[in-house]
Amino acid sequence: MNSTLQQKISTKMSDGLLPTHAPLRSFAGFGSGSLCHGCDEPVLGSEVEHEHDFDGKRTFRLHAACEAIWRTLTNQVPDPWADPPPRS
Ligand SMILES: [Zn+2]
Repeated sequence: MNSTLQQKISTKMSDGLLPTHAPLRSFAGFGSGSLCHGCDEPVLGSEVEHEHDFDGKRTFRLHAACEAIWRTLTNQVPDPWADPPPRS
């Protein structure tokens, strides 16, 4: 696995630039030339692009490889937007 890419995606998740939870809906298809939300490189028409719809408003596109890294990290990076734990 590309550790630099993993670090980049992990940092984006910690910064709230990438979601840390599973999407509502996912699609996969060939790239449309849009920039990947993981590595910031375009997803070319010859590459597989994963598209994740989170709440009907936010859509994230990722290369297949970036998607695999992101999906692994969703269980490891704390959600920066999560509600703070209730105080007793
Ligand atoms: Zn990518």
